[in-house]
Formats: sequence, C-alpha cells, structure tokens
Amino acid sequence: MTLPELNRLFSTDDDCREILTRLRWPAGVECPRCRNRNVWWVDSRKQFTCSECSYQFSVTTGTIFNDSHLPLPSWFMAVLLLVEARKGMSANQIKRTLGVSYKTAWYLCHRIRAAMKEVELPMLDGTVAMDETYVGGKQRNPGRGMATTNKEVVIGIRKRNGELRFFHAEDAKSGTLAKYISDNISTDVDVIITDSLQAYKHAVGEAKHETVNHTAREYVRGDIHTNTVENAFSLLKRGIMGTWHKISAKHLPAYLDEMQFRFNRRKNTNLFLDTLRHMVTADPLTFAKLTA
Ligand SMILES: [Zn+2]
Repeated sequence: MTLPELNRLFSTDDDCREILTRLRWPAGVECPRCRNRNVWWVDSRKQFTCSECSYQFSVTTGTIFNDSHLPLPSWFMAVLLLVEARKGMSANQIKRTLGVSYKTAWYLCHRIRAAMKEVELPMLDGTVAMDETYVGGKQRNPGRGMATTNKEVVIGIRKRNGELRFFHAEDAKSGTLAKYISDNISTDVDVIITDSLQAYKHAVGEAKHETVNHTAREYVRGDIHTNTVENAFSLLKRGIMGTWHKISAKHLPAYLDEMQFRFNRRKNTNLFLDTLRHMVTADPLTFAKLTA
C-alpha cells in the first residue's frame, strides 16, 4: 500500500467502513451483542440494527476505533505511516503529518500499537538465538557492568529465519531467563544460542546450549552466532533513539509489541490490511486504561 493508493482507495469514511466491515465480519455482519446475522443497514446513521435484539452498532463499535472523532481516512493514514516506518514513528511526527493535536496523535499511536499486540505466539524451534539488551535510563557507572545501571532490560528471542519475540524483563537473572525460555522456546528446539552470560548457563541447561563469548570479541563461530537477534536489537535501538527519543518504562512493552509485529511481518505485503484487521478484532483500548 502506498500513499497514492491509500488516497485513491480510502478517501471517504464510506470507503473505509466498507473494508473494515469485510475485515471484521468476513462471513457476514454479525450483531456484537447477540451474534445474530440478521441485521439491516440504516444509511442515515451509518449503522446496523440487529433484528433480534434491536442493538444499533457500527463497524467500529467495540473496537479500537470506538469513540474516536477522527475521520476514518485519517486513521487509515496513521496506520499506513506506522506500519511503513521500519524504525517506528513518533507521535510528534504523526501530529505534523496529519495536522492533529499532540494528544490525538499520541492516543492514535497507542491505539494502533495496541492492535499490533500478537496474542497467539507459537513456540519457537529449530535454531533459536536469545540475547538481552538495555534501553533507556542512564548508565550510572559506565564500565562497571550492566548491573549498575537503571536501564530497562529487553530480552530478544528469535528463531533463525523465523519469528522474533521482544520482552521487557524485570532483570536478566537466570530465573527470569528460564521463564522466557519455557514460555517461548519449544522443548524440541535443536539449539539455543546465547552469549556467555553466566545466567544463561543455569537458565538453558547443558543440553542444546551453545554460547558465543562477546566479551572475548567472538561474535561468530561457524554457524553459532546471535546475529539474528542482534539485528533486531539494533533496529529497536535506532527506533528508540531516533524516533521516540525517550520512552517511559510503562510504555516500553507497547513499543516492543509494535517493533515485533512489524519485524515479523516485514515480508508481508498485506501488512496494512493485516493491521486494520487487528484493529477491528482486538480489544479496544480506552484512554483511561492508557493513562492509568
Ligand atoms: Zn443482536
């Protein structure tokens, strides 16, 4: 999807509503309250009425779009901007491009990001690389190791030639690492590659574990490397430094979800529609919840 295509296909609220209807109810419009399929369209209200329970609803009722006064074509443009920006896009940039207030832009970004949360994550197998990185905060004692910083820990797990997972972790201790391993990596995995951080030795166990010693500048040993996950980290860091500048720990998981979603779909030509589909099928996000 390009900007000219977007302008041609989705320039009116009606155009947008039509595609959202097909994405939300591929098998036909269904009453969100009683699931009845027998509904009629009231054009003057741009709503459906359920023949069973009389509920009046639109395609955006009960979705992430709910209660938004922003025209749908503006929403669509924000979605396109966010899915096409590989390193992410700041609310400030959305504000300038769409000509909306900062508050609207910020909320818009967070709502779209909420739709980018992947709910069904298959276990990773094959060759899996796992690594940790530190973002945000200030490094209080540079050179004295990561334990002395107040940076946030991000765990990255990636199947070679496959999917990526990002997590905002409490710490990088072996118990924490072990939990992310058991939650995300199949017991049938061929090999788990990590750096030589002591915590991984306990977390992964002896079997199926290969390490690369980053402190000894050993980054690649034949096929044993963590480059796949490090590439994803470098994209994340460029996104945080270049686009979002300073993000709070509270919103870090949402940014990680966004990066992960986009990364795992970077070869998906339907990324735009895929995101829209998530937006009409994912849980709505209320402003109160967001700012709680
Ligand atoms: Zn109904």
